[in-house]
Amino acid sequence: MSGIIFVLIAIAIIFFIKVKSKKKQNKILEEISKPFSMKWKDILKKKVIFYKRLSEEDKKVFEKRILLFLATKKIEGIDTDIDDSIRLMVASSAIIPVFAFPKFNYPRINQVLIYPNSFDKNFQTERFENHKQFIIGMVGDGVMSGTVALSKPDLIDGFDGVRHKKNVGIHEFVHLIDKQDGIIDGVPELLLKHSYVGTWLHEIRSEMHRIKKRKSDINPYALTNNAEFLAVVSEYFFSNPVKFNKKHPELYRYLKTIFHQETKK
Ligand SMILES: [Zn+2]
Repeated sequence: MSGIIFVLIAIAIIFFIKVKSKKKQNKILEEISKPFSMKWKDILKKKVIFYKRLSEEDKKVFEKRILLFLATKKIEGIDTDIDDSIRLMVASSAIIPVFAFPKFNYPRINQVLIYPNSFDKNFQTERFENHKQFIIGMVGDGVMSGTVALSKPDLIDGFDGVRHKKNVGIHEFVHLIDKQDGIIDGVPELLLKHSYVGTWLHEIRSEMHRIKKRKSDINPYALTNNAEFLAVVSEYFFSNPVKFNKKHPELYRYLKTIFHQETKK
């Protein structure tokens, strides 16, 4: 008898899970079918240079990807208010590096936390005098895996409509793409063909050498390791592609191959 009850309970649980996930899927479909508001388009035009340069057709694709990201990930302010503009900046940071990969929607993360300022590795935001290293963005590990944390003022700085080399949002999402194969090591196997890995690592070493000799305008933070190198040059590649191509044509060619995108158009 208890065997039959067990089977019935198992069937009920499976049925409940199926109904729940169907409901969730319908909710997502409903969210991404909504028209993209003019107000949101204006925010993107004003703040996101990458969006501005897209064709009308690609702008629509970008908007759908934004809606899908926002429908599937939670974005939460920690001791700070967040508005649509912040949500759009977070979603743009995520979509820009994988715009050429239409099916990729960051399966490993479910939430993005926005902090009122830079923080330390314990997510403390106060500035202590003897604390020199402050973090402006982080991909969570251990209990925090599935989470990205970003400092609000630094996120805003990256999307001020000006062409520069810094964008903490893009930086952290590039780490997540890199992490997709299991480790953050500067070799995003999701995007990079195996045959390219050797020459890519060689290119990293050459450019690091130039940075050390102060013969490069790339942020020296790229010297930290290969993963930081990839994230730092990606910020530059997506934020100021014409200048990046002019100053670093070889690196530009690699990133174009990695991300399947011609950003300098
Ligand atoms: Zn980093």
